[in-house]
Amino acid sequence: MFTPVEGRTVVVTGGTRGIGKGIARVFAGAGANVVVTGRDAAVGEAAAEELAQKAGGGAVSFVVADVASAADTARLAETVLERHGGVDVVCANAGIFPSAPLATMTEADIDEMLGVNVKGAILTVQAFLPALKATGRGRVILTSSITGPHTGYPGWSHYGASKAAMLGFMRTAAIELAPHGITVNAILPGNIITEGLADLGEDYLRSMEAAIPMRRLGEVEEIGHAALFLATDEAAYITGQSLVVDGGQILPETPAAMDDV
Ligand code: NAP
Repeated sequence: MFTPVEGRTVVVTGGTRGIGKGIARVFAGAGANVVVTGRDAAVGEAAAEELAQKAGGGAVSFVVADVASAADTARLAETVLERHGGVDVVCANAGIFPSAPLATMTEADIDEMLGVNVKGAILTVQAFLPALKATGRGRVILTSSITGPHTGYPGWSHYGASKAAMLGFMRTAAIELAPHGITVNAILPGNIITEGLADLGEDYLRSMEAAIPMRRLGEVEEIGHAALFLATDEAAYITGQSLVVDGGQILPETPAAMDDV
């Protein structure tokens, strides 16, 4: 059995929708205090209320914050400490994935992608460092992607760059924070059913299903369960690692490999 995370405090950026909400639901269900963040206050308040109804004894609340702003991430950390007195787990999950072909991608497209996905993750971790050090067993869990570290997809060169950059950040952060008992790991989701993914259209979703050995898209809670494992005391010796959760999507050597089973 794993040591319960009951009573621990978990922050999930971008926890108001999609994968982040799935992560928040799993931690809340396990009795942790959960704080979710996002930029849209109405969506965030509603998500916290919904998550609180299925919580296992801990509090669930929302803080409006843009991870691309250092002032916002600092205020987020302050608010979490006021509410809960500390933090045990930081899930830097907030991210965006608007597509843009390389030929027409603008400087603003690149700045926005790297600003939210890379700078946002770094600022989030930085803001919570004193609190994570204070616990002596802090956990940082980054939501990267298979896109970038393992695969590519037309229109997402800047997205892939951002998700691979998160792993570069992770490796050095893991070394710097190891003396404080803090682990820094990343989850690399494949195609997970979320509001953001649904926006890409039915054709995209069906083509992805066909490319996944498990023949289905992932559920947000399946990312949550991976995060919960990395947050346990028993995962204390795992740091600087990336965990692919993709139903086997990156495995086939060619699309034809899928036809032979
Ligand atoms: P989603 O459904 O679009 O949800 C994104 C969440 O992030 C929302 O809560 C959103 O809230 C928040 N967010 C976006 N920009 C933000 C910002 N600047 N500051 C604070 N919060 C922000 O996306 P998702 O599919 O769950 O993706 C979540 C993460 O998983 C991303 O990092 C993504 O790259 C990664 N991922 C997703 C998939 C997939 O298949 N879905 C696969 C691999 C990796 P607001 O809009 O209110 O700010």
